[in-house]
Amino acid sequence: MYCPFCSKVDTKVLESRLLNDSIRRRRECLNCSNRFTTYETAKIHLKVLKRKGHEQEFDITKVKKSIKRACGKIEAEVISNLTRKIELKILNKKTNTIKSAEIGNIVLNELKKTNKMAYLRFASVHKEIEDPELMKKELNTIIKR
Ligand SMILES: [Zn+2]
Repeated sequence: MYCPFCSKVDTKVLESRLLNDSIRRRRECLNCSNRFTTYETAKIHLKVLKRKGHEQEFDITKVKKSIKRACGKIEAEVISNLTRKIELKILNKKTNTIKSAEIGNIVLNELKKTNKMAYLRFASVHKEIEDPELMKKELNTIIKR
């Protein structure tokens, strides 16, 4: 870490504190003795390949939003847990690029297990179901289980 005051790299960590999504470190420069703070956060490098062919940085908040939309009025904690579960499944694929359709399928599988109505709502968007016959087919896959 470069000192913002003198640009030397030797610093001493005075204090580390674990925050929600990062680690905060108070540092002191060994060269000029000025103090500053650094924040350390975990970054994953995952690209999402969209249907139209362009790539986007993976953003779990977008996935969460679509889950929330599909689930309607349910507890925020349920949404968070579900999102976390889906995020882990995506990350455990250990890949650098994932198709948006694949993410959609992971979400669908989880919703199918936990919330049938949300599953249908999500499926109708994700699979772009406009044909009532197709919707019926989707319903049947749920009912059969
Ligand atoms: Zn310095």
